[in-house]
Amino acid sequence: MIIEVDRDKCTGCGECKDVCPKGPRIWKINGKAEANNLRYCHVCILCASKCPVGAIKVIRDEINGEKKEFRA
Ligand code: SF4
Ligand code: SF4
Repeated sequence: MIIEVDRDKCTGCGECKDVCPKGPRIWKINGKAEANNLRYCHVCILCASKCPVGAIKVIRDEINGEKKEFRA
């Protein structure tokens, strides 16, 4: 899986990190958000649903090989 952040949209507000159950392990906010250490990710998509500007796309690998995208 991957988490894409649209850096043009991201304001660096930090809501994705705050709402994420593993935020301190996964998210880095340096003016813009960046998702690292995705081995801690539950794929709950809270980050994508809470981002106020819709900058986050969670792309999960499906069992049949197709990718499924989640965006707020
Ligand atoms: S919630 Fe959205 S706008 Fe705020 S830091 Fe995260 S990605 Fe950027
Ligand atoms: S999908 Fe859930 S666990 Fe993964 S980074 Fe987003 S909020 Fe955190």
